[in-house]
Amino acid sequence: MGAKVVLASHNQGKLRELREILRGQIDGLDVDTEVVDAAAVNAPDVVEDGVTFAENSLKKAHAVAQATGLIAIADDSGLAVDVLGGAPGIFSARWAGRHGDDAANLNLLLNQLADIADEHRGARFCCAASLATPAGDEAVEYGELPGTLLHAPAGDGGFGYDPILAPTELTGDDAGKSCAQIPAEMKNSISHRARAFTALIPHLRAALTE
Ligand code: IMP
Repeated sequence: MGAKVVLASHNQGKLRELREILRGQIDGLDVDTEVVDAAAVNAPDVVEDGVTFAENSLKKAHAVAQATGLIAIADDSGLAVDVLGGAPGIFSARWAGRHGDDAANLNLLLNQLADIADEHRGARFCCAASLATPAGDEAVEYGELPGTLLHAPAGDGGFGYDPILAPTELTGDDAGKSCAQIPAEMKNSISHRARAFTALIPHLRAALTE
C-alpha cells in the first residue's frame, strides 16, 4: 500500500525546493509514495509561537499529521545575522511586521546593516526539518548555509532573503554570488534546507516502512 507524505507548508518557495530536494530520495521507497502540499489536504495554518526553529518545525509537523492522519514533514527556517546576535532568526518571515512580505523584510534588514562593513556581514540560513506521524512519533534535524550579506539585492531566483546572502562556500566564478544568482540545483546542493532534509531522510524511510 502506498503512503502519502504531507509537506506542512503553504510557502511556495519552500515547497518548490523541498520537492526538488526530496525527489529521488524517497522515490523508490514505495511505488505509491506521494508528496502533497499542505493546501492540497486543507491542512491548518499553525501559529508559530515556539522560540526555536526546531520547536516551530515540530509544531507544524504534529499539527498537520494530526489534522490529516498522514505522515507530515515540516521546515522552519530563517536567516541569522552575526552582528544582530542571530536575528531575525525565528522572526525572519515577519521582520518588517507583516508575515511573508519578503521585499519589506529584506529592505528593512539592509537598512539596519547599512553601516556595517563587509568583514562583519556574516550570516547564515538555518533550517530545522521535522517529521511527525499521526501516532505522535517525531524526528528533527538541522542544517545551515553560512554566508555574507551583500549591500544590495542581486538576482531574481529563489525567494525570501536569497538575493542578499552570498554563500561562503561558493568559489571561482560563483564566489560572491547571492543565492538568487545561482541555479536552483546549485542552491539545493548546499542549502540549509537540503542539509536538514537529507539528515531527515533516514527517519522518513523508517516512518514509511513501519
Ligand atoms: P517560516 O516560513 O516561518 O519558516 O519563515 C521562513 C523565513 O525565512 C521567510 O522569511 C523566508 O523568506 C526566510 N527563508 C527561509 N529559508 C530561506 C531560503 O532558503 N532563502 C531565503 N529566505 C529564506
